[in-house]
Amino acid sequence: MSVLFPALQEKSTQAKQALRFGDRALTYAELAEVAGTLARELRALRGTGETPVRVAVWATATIETSVAVVAALLAGVPAVPVNPKIGERELAHIVTDSSPVRVLAEPGAELPAGLRELHRTDVTLTGSAGALPDEPGPESPALIVYTSGTTGPPKGVVLPRRAIAETLDALEDAWQWSAEDVLVHALPLFHVHGLILGVLGPLRRAAEVRHLGRFATAPLTEELANGATMMFGVPTMYHRIAAEVQDDPALRDALAGARLLVSGSAALPVHDHERITAATGQQVVERYGMTETLMNTSVRADGERRPGTVGVPLRGVEVRLVEENGTPIEDSDGETVGEIQVRGANLFTEYLNRPDATAEAFVDGWFRTGDMAVRDADGYLRIVGRKATDLIKSGGYKIGAGEIENALLEHPGVSEAAVTGEPDPDLGERIVAWIVPSGARPDELELADHVSRLLAPHKRPRVVHFVDALPRNDMGKVLKRALHA
Ligand code: ATP
Ligand code: MG
Repeated sequence: MSVLFPALQEKSTQAKQALRFGDRALTYAELAEVAGTLARELRALRGTGETPVRVAVWATATIETSVAVVAALLAGVPAVPVNPKIGERELAHIVTDSSPVRVLAEPGAELPAGLRELHRTDVTLTGSAGALPDEPGPESPALIVYTSGTTGPPKGVVLPRRAIAETLDALEDAWQWSAEDVLVHALPLFHVHGLILGVLGPLRRAAEVRHLGRFATAPLTEELANGATMMFGVPTMYHRIAAEVQDDPALRDALAGARLLVSGSAALPVHDHERITAATGQQVVERYGMTETLMNTSVRADGERRPGTVGVPLRGVEVRLVEENGTPIEDSDGETVGEIQVRGANLFTEYLNRPDATAEAFVDGWFRTGDMAVRDADGYLRIVGRKATDLIKSGGYKIGAGEIENALLEHPGVSEAAVTGEPDPDLGERIVAWIVPSGARPDELELADHVSRLLAPHKRPRVVHFVDALPRNDMGKVLKRALHA
């Protein structure tokens, strides 16, 4: 892996389109000039190695953000993508934690206090031809990406160049991702999914990215009808697609013609997966990853698609399931729940300034994901949920929230569902369901009966709350810690 983006320098790819955001686009030759020019400027910042030099990127969903990140990677200066909707306290934490020496932003962007004080570099789409800087070694830090903050304050994850290259190459293998592919996505650019997979992924493959800005099914239809082959989305997007596709023949045809639809960042409800398949014949491919590990598993493009599973370990990734007492689970009976632990070249280096958290995250060289799963006989993983929030201990049973959520979503009166546990004097914890109705409120008892009938009596929700919306972060992940009566 000497360079991250060979297509920037190869003759055969120079005229190909690399990035398109709305009406602004860059070919590989243009991207090499524009990002190369900025990279030469940033290269001068790279110090002696004693004091780390980092830059913040004001990560709007724009072509400038993509250029800024590519330039920082070319320069070997670690970049810290910052969510433009970030709150004051979180921004203060990120700035203090990562101490960037400057901020890269699109011209005219209004920066909040905290970033405004930093030296500012406007990212423009102009540049001149010139040699690209020599890229640093595979272990040098490339990006510092903050986790989504679903379970607590976001942690800065130091990602070396090696992890990015390895994960993207493993996805090439799993998804048969080629230079012919045109990816359409509408994800934010300050997390792994939208930035590393969605922008850096196509660039490493010499493929093309088209970003929609905001997600909507009409522009998605248009891009798929005009040559896009792949889509990356989060479950909330597939939920919208599932709801609209029955009544939208153009969307249905566009999806039916796609090569690959990929979902990740949170569990894709089985009900949505099945509704999309019923309408289009397409089976959405689900993959599982984290900021710390990049991608771990995926259903393969050439493999069997099974709703509700995240597929098999990617090339170069070792996955094991471990019981609470630390014993690895040997048999794959599809029933024994264990924590997913991973090892491989896809892993991060450390949590920034958190040696305690880094040490705690590993056991015998394995990274503890905090996610719980079962494994089928042929190695397909089925995620049950997060150890911290999704595993409910009730009446002597360990019950995964995801299974109950999937069952609730099959009820016609339910549009969205989240399941939590709350303390109960008899059961230890009782199952609580949070429901966004699809129309008129369904009957509580009927919902509970529906779950008992489909699953088992001990998985029956004891309390049902009806809400207008579920609290979600900007990746559409449900914030379970914000759910309490
Ligand atoms: P924080 O670590 O700050 O609490 P986070 O874990 O949501 O936030 P990310 O690193 O962005 O931050 O997300 C990784 C997590 O997302 C995984 O640990 C897993 O719980 C969840 N996840 C990702 N893909 C899937 C999937 N396909 N199915 C179920 N869960 C998934
Ligand atoms: Mg996490």
